[in-house]
Amino acid sequence: MTTTSDAVPDARTVAAELSDAGVAGVTISWADNNGIPRSRTVPVSALPRVAETGIGVTTLFAVFDSSDAITYAHEGLSSPSGDVRLVPVLDGLVPLAGQPALAWAPGRILDADGAPWPYDQRAVLERQVEELGKAGLTALVGYEIEFGVYAEGGPDEFVPAHPGPAYSPHALLAVDEFMADVLRDFTANGLEIGQLHAEYGPAQMELSLAPSDPVTAADRQLLARQTLRAAARRNGLRLSFAPLPAQAAAGNGWHIHSSVWRDGRNLLAGNQEGPGAEGAAYIAGLLRDLPAVAAITAPTLGSLARLRPGFFAGAFAFWGVENREAPLRYVPGSKFLGSDHANVELKTSDASANPYLALAAVLAAGAAGVADELSLEPPVQADPGSWSEKERAEQKIALLPRTQAEQEAALTGNPRIPAVLGDDLLGAFLAVRRSDAAAAEDRSPDDVLAGLRWRY
Ligand code: GLU
Ligand code: MG
Repeated sequence: MTTTSDAVPDARTVAAELSDAGVAGVTISWADNNGIPRSRTVPVSALPRVAETGIGVTTLFAVFDSSDAITYAHEGLSSPSGDVRLVPVLDGLVPLAGQPALAWAPGRILDADGAPWPYDQRAVLERQVEELGKAGLTALVGYEIEFGVYAEGGPDEFVPAHPGPAYSPHALLAVDEFMADVLRDFTANGLEIGQLHAEYGPAQMELSLAPSDPVTAADRQLLARQTLRAAARRNGLRLSFAPLPAQAAAGNGWHIHSSVWRDGRNLLAGNQEGPGAEGAAYIAGLLRDLPAVAAITAPTLGSLARLRPGFFAGAFAFWGVENREAPLRYVPGSKFLGSDHANVELKTSDASANPYLALAAVLAAGAAGVADELSLEPPVQADPGSWSEKERAEQKIALLPRTQAEQEAALTGNPRIPAVLGDDLLGAFLAVRRSDAAAAEDRSPDDVLAGLRWRY
């Protein structure tokens, strides 16, 4: 396939190659403000035209809430009129191993004149990467993806496809054919798996994706979902990517590992005390803005339900070295692993975040820390959840926002992160969050989680 990133692929050539390979259609996908993938599919013959001028889609996708209700509460998008153009990014196009009639491409959304559309989340991340570049920095990002595997069934059926034990090969035997398809299809779709295992609860699995530049990492996070779902369907299984599929289920974190680099040097490189000055400033920047960042990386009612102390989900705001209860877990390199391995993991992140916005928020917060030359307090190696209120107050460790209103206040009150989204997108994003919260008002927590279970 002509999909290398060093040359802009020519749509006609790509279409001809796809056609020769028996591919009939191209699915163009993006993620909305709820982290829900949306798409349009075109026949391969239409690709050259669509690659140039896109497909018409409603502006209202920016104000769909988590249950597909449209909110008109955001002033900029308060009417049913308006159309924008969804354009495939040919650089990211891959024929889908698990769906042989289709190729997949990430989409960007332009306004009707082909100019940037302020609600396009992918452009927000592209901008942020550019900003980093101006400061002489590049970033590497890798996602860890946790999900539940269930038997296919009606909307209310919820039968784990593996019984555990946690991390056991015996658990995986129950989903052996699915796992084999995942391994093969990921490779065929150009997704490099770091490792794959049975996670903590019944039904839960995890895989990690190899690090890449941020925009590619977000594109691949979406492609990974498509690839996983196709493999599950073929094997009579159903996946939940929801942050918390049910109160009693294990939470699904979609942890973000990031490192920043200057002149080919990993600034996160360090030891058990932490990274060097600039890497420490990056973590300090993340910590400073964490309540606002989490409002974007773990933004939904499902996210808030997942963020329970004691579940390795990152509920208290602090950092630690290899501390799995910390929302910011510093992973130092070592003599054995090399300094390139060093990174910081954000655990307060899940599939209900738009991946482009999530990475943009993370990089903006971290880069601001570097620009401001922040210093970092010593790491916390214990679980602050086991401390008294008084001890936590002494160490200045607080819970991250627990409600939609608290998250909104943390985000709008932050001096840096709102500007990353821009006023229009921020307005739409918050309107959607309020719409979700209002719809949940007269529903039980169980009911809300059940409604989100299969959405991502
Ligand atoms: N399942 C946990 C979460 O909700 C994470 C467990 C782990 O540290 O891998 O994020
Ligand atoms: Mg895990």
